[in-house]
Amino acid sequence: MRIGILTIGDELLIGQVLNTNAMSIAKHCTNVGAQVVCQSTVADVPEHIVSELHRVASKVDVIITTGGLGPTHDDCTVESVASFVSKDLVQDAQWLQVLQQRFERLGRELTPRNAAQAMVPAGAIVWHDSPGTAPGFMLPASSHAHSVDVIVLPGVPREMQQLMDLHVLPWIQRCIEESGEPITSYRTLITTGIPESTLADLIGSPDEFLQGGSLAFLPSQRGVRLRIGVSSSLAADREQRLDTIEQIIRSRAGKWIVGSSDVGLAEIIGRTLNDKHHTLAVAESCTGGMLGGACTDVAGSSEWFLGGVISYSNDVKMSMLGVAKSTLEQYGAVSEDVARQMAEGVRTAIGSTWGIGVTGVAGPGGGSAEKPVGTVWIAVAGPHGTVSRLHTFTTDRANNRERSVAAALFMLWEQLHDQDR
Ligand code: ATP
Ligand code: MG
Repeated sequence: MRIGILTIGDELLIGQVLNTNAMSIAKHCTNVGAQVVCQSTVADVPEHIVSELHRVASKVDVIITTGGLGPTHDDCTVESVASFVSKDLVQDAQWLQVLQQRFERLGRELTPRNAAQAMVPAGAIVWHDSPGTAPGFMLPASSHAHSVDVIVLPGVPREMQQLMDLHVLPWIQRCIEESGEPITSYRTLITTGIPESTLADLIGSPDEFLQGGSLAFLPSQRGVRLRIGVSSSLAADREQRLDTIEQIIRSRAGKWIVGSSDVGLAEIIGRTLNDKHHTLAVAESCTGGMLGGACTDVAGSSEWFLGGVISYSNDVKMSMLGVAKSTLEQYGAVSEDVARQMAEGVRTAIGSTWGIGVTGVAGPGGGSAEKPVGTVWIAVAGPHGTVSRLHTFTTDRANNRERSVAAALFMLWEQLHDQDR
């Protein structure tokens, strides 16, 4: 099933609102086996919406739109869709009743403006459990002259998602199952600590083992994700082929693979710490709280992340973490000894199983010949001692900080792993 996503709204075009609807619809449709073949965004202008519907209809089986269902003059999606399918707008009596009941419960009067939200193109299947004041609806291909199913959803992300979950995704899944067409399944392997090109060299020529599947490298500052894709109409066949490809990749680059689902390294570490009943505390200089932020981004991190110290100044390094004045004077704040004392100091101060210390020159200023911008020392202190490593990143401040977080998490992951060996 080929799907086209059409997001509607001036705010998206001018960069005022991030188009998260396109991303989340694409992700969920892909997960249930549909193929998203195009995404586009247009303004709240009827002619633009109608012409884009015509353009997209020629390429896909289903069009999903979001946005522009509101009660104000700038919302014109419903009449544009009606014009596309050459239908009149008709009142959906049941939706009007839903609105009346909802407004009554809130003690508000139903204005003509709100009542107008019960107007839908003739032939629409209206979802009466829509959470907003505008209902989502669908115009099946059989109800009009274009051979495309049109699904119309609200722009508010939470409302859109609810209708996707309740109606759209189950319907897509059913259609795909009934058609018996091949489905593409994906699996993502998370690597970290290795550059994309080195990883590609290790894995070698994918054509040898993919057997019609696909392999994509998705680099970011926190590591490279490897996305494997295979197509088949049989779920068991897809799983078996994904397993085979994963095994081959693991046999070549397993050392760098930290997980096999699309979750971040912090979450993977959190699961491991939880399993071991271990805890973590961090002492951060150049990352200024970003490492703690990455940990607390993970839901449920209070189970394993205890806290941290942002020890930006030497005074805080000494007073809060017990870093020795003599060490700071002899080696400087960005040094192996200071990173180690930070990791050990925060572990002791907070009483965690593990402590991480990060100190570096993020840039753009502050570099020297001996310690250029991008020099970062990271130490991990744990039950069996402390390890430390020098990292040399780039001249870009934001990049250095992101990569320091990734490297620190990776070092902890290695230590947690080493304990098992
Ligand atoms: P309602 O059901 O509330 O009438 P609507 O369909 O009229 O919703 P819009 O008025 O177009 O939706 O958008 C409502 C809000 O939803 C916008 O202010 C915007 O913040 C958000 N929104 C709209 N489109 C998107 C999108 N593609 N991605 C993320 N957010 C969006
Ligand atoms: Mg809008």
